[in-house]
Amino acid sequence: MALITQGPKGTQDLMPKDTAKWQIVEEVMKGEASLHGFHEVRTPVFEHTELFLRGVGDTTDVVEKQMYTFEDKGQRSITLRPEGTAGVVRAMLQSGIYNEGYPVKLCYFTSCYRYEKPQAGRLREFHQFGIEMFGASEPVADAEVILVAKGIFDRLGVKNLRLELNSIGCPKCRANYHKALKEYFQQYKEELCTTCLSRLERNPMRILDCKSEICSKIAEGAPKIVEFLCDECQEHFTGVQEALTAAGVEFVLNPTIVRGLDYYTRTVFEFVSCDLGSQSTVCGGGRYDGLVEEMGGKPTAGLGFGLGMERLMLILQAQGIELPESEKCEIYIASMGKEALKKAIALATELRNCGVYAEYDLCGRGLKAQMKYADKIGAAYTIVLGDNEIAENKAQLKNMKSGEKKDISLGENFLDDYLSNTVDAEILNF
Ligand SMILES: [Zn+2]
Ligand SMILES: [Zn+2]
Repeated sequence: MALITQGPKGTQDLMPKDTAKWQIVEEVMKGEASLHGFHEVRTPVFEHTELFLRGVGDTTDVVEKQMYTFEDKGQRSITLRPEGTAGVVRAMLQSGIYNEGYPVKLCYFTSCYRYEKPQAGRLREFHQFGIEMFGASEPVADAEVILVAKGIFDRLGVKNLRLELNSIGCPKCRANYHKALKEYFQQYKEELCTTCLSRLERNPMRILDCKSEICSKIAEGAPKIVEFLCDECQEHFTGVQEALTAAGVEFVLNPTIVRGLDYYTRTVFEFVSCDLGSQSTVCGGGRYDGLVEEMGGKPTAGLGFGLGMERLMLILQAQGIELPESEKCEIYIASMGKEALKKAIALATELRNCGVYAEYDLCGRGLKAQMKYADKIGAAYTIVLGDNEIAENKAQLKNMKSGEKKDISLGENFLDDYLSNTVDAEILNF
């Protein structure tokens, strides 16, 4: 029975009180993104496996260990998306939206799937908000992407976030860096984990990302990429910092942030929080000028970020940032008897057509139980309909907070009477 009464390990349901909060956060994200000209795109949950081998990189932990990959009934290899960028790049290329001119600015809400050990803020199905920009290679574009994330955190009132910044150069400066890294890690060949041992030849930068304790200890002493930047990359990095300073954004340089894949270039950044016990990255992003070409398009500058929804919600909770719960009922129309219930249905319909949240009895309850329910759903106003009210075609509208009662017509003037005797429930509730 456990299989049908409990969701799979690493999944989480959002119940109405949660979704109400998520929706507010999503509105803030969408709102901030659109202030910068990013508009929403929606791509499928599953893609051809090949897309992620190319778009995420076949030497990454994600691709090597964590993907939900299966063969469909047509013998195609299909994978549930483990991250958001690859699908968006594909959609950008497939739609030809870039023909409308650069920069292309897209944002998305997405669910992602990774077979990982579940822990706080890390699930097997998790959610991200992300933005991607294509066709902009100036340093000011890197800063712009960071400003969107910063704007979201500021609007939500998130505190104690540290913006960490690094540059990982271009393929030109990385050739020397790879050589230096290989030399360094060679000395620890006996101690590296088996995955890293194979990375030593294929892509030594990936070792810097390894989560194993021994490998990350060894990686601490490795040479840093910033010491190997070519002049152009150094100039770009300085430009990003100048643009951030112009926007009044504080940051720290952290030479240990890397993305060890060839198509990641120059800027990488993370927003780090200390509010969840250990340090955790709530938003990470950067520039990937080689990705579009890697995925079959023309060489096109690209950059973006991914922001983890679950982790953000945990931080909001840890910081005591209150988000309103679901909308409360504005009016409950109690009824006694069949005729009164019919009238309640008609009146509620009239109100709802006008955008008012109205409820009436659906459970055949007596008056007392109905009023108790009205209280429970936080109704700002109530009307009680009985034989007298139906006969006289008027009723008393009660303000549940002040206890004040007003006569209102149940006939043609109902809506006008109602609206002129009530304050918007939202004002009452906040
Ligand atoms: Zn370079
Ligand atoms: Zn390792």
